[in-house]
Amino acid sequence: MLLIGSHVSFKSDSQLLGSVKEAISYGSSCFMFYTGAPQNTKRCELSYDLTVEARNLMDKNNILIDDIVIHAPYIINLANNEKKDSYSFAIDFLRNEIKRAEMLGVNKIVLHPGSFVNLDIDTGINNIINGLNQVLDKYCNVNICLETMAGKGTEIGFKLEHLKRIIDGVKYNDKVMVCIDTCHLNDAGYDLSDFDNFLNDFDKIIGINKIGCVHVNDSKNVRGSRKDRHENIGFGTIGFDNLLSVIYDERLKNIPKILESPYVTKDDNSKEKVLAPYKYEIEMIRNKKFNKDLYKDIRING
Ligand code: FE
Ligand code: FE
Ligand code: ZN
Repeated sequence: MLLIGSHVSFKSDSQLLGSVKEAISYGSSCFMFYTGAPQNTKRCELSYDLTVEARNLMDKNNILIDDIVIHAPYIINLANNEKKDSYSFAIDFLRNEIKRAEMLGVNKIVLHPGSFVNLDIDTGINNIINGLNQVLDKYCNVNICLETMAGKGTEIGFKLEHLKRIIDGVKYNDKVMVCIDTCHLNDAGYDLSDFDNFLNDFDKIIGINKIGCVHVNDSKNVRGSRKDRHENIGFGTIGFDNLLSVIYDERLKNIPKILESPYVTKDDNSKEKVLAPYKYEIEMIRNKKFNKDLYKDIRING
C-alpha cells in the first residue's frame, strides 16, 4: 500500500480525532500534525476519549499509528544556547512533546535541528547533541527525526554530514532518525533528478534505515538557492516526475510520505490561502498523472 498523506490540523476540541477525519477526507494512508499551533508552544490537555475514538477510526480505515508523525513547533531551537532560559525551555518542551506523543501512541517526532544564530556551526551542532542527550533516555518510545534543512540563514542540517555528526554524538542514537524534505534538499543543493543516486549517497553517509519520514514538496526556487519556499506538487523546480520517483521508491516503501504544499487562494485576485490542495495532489500521485488544472479543480470544489 502506498503510504501517502499530508500535514493536517490538530485542534483542541477535536484533537487526534479531527486530524484523522481530515486525513481520511484527503484519501490519505498516513498523516502529520503539530500538537498545537506550529509557531507557538501553547498546548492543550490531551483527551483520552478523543484519542481512543481516533484510534478506532484509524483501525477502520487501515491507518497504522506507526505511520503517524508529529512535527515539533519550529520555534524550538536546540542549536543556540545564548539565552539560557530559551535553551532550557526548548529542552523541556521537547521532553513534554515526547510525553504527548507517547500518550497518543505516536512514535515519530520531526524536529528542525536548529539555527546557530550568533554562534558557529560546530557550537550549534554540539548544543543540539547536548539537548537531545538531555531529552532521550533508554525508556523513550519515540524517535526524533531530524529534518534535512534548506540552509536558510544559519540553519543546521542542510548537509547530510551535519545530521550524521548529531546522530553520532547522541548517546541513545537508536532513537534518532532523519526526515528528508525534498524541497529542502533541492534548495540545499542536492540533485533529485537522480533520486536513486541520492539515496545511495544517503546510505553511505547516514544509512537508509535511518529515514523515518519523507516530506514531499516541490520548490519555488532553483537548486542550491537555500531558500525554503514550498510549491504545489508538480508546479515547482523539482517537478512531478522527480517527485514521483521519490514517492514510489521501493527502498522508501514503508516510510510515510507527507505533503506540506501550500494552500491555494480562492481566485487569482485574493491573497489569502484558504483551500487545502492535498486531496487533489494525492489523487494526482495515486494516478501517477500530473494535473495541470489542479488549481482550477481545487477552486471549483473548494
Ligand atoms: Fe519541517
Ligand atoms: Fe518539511
Ligand atoms: Zn520547508
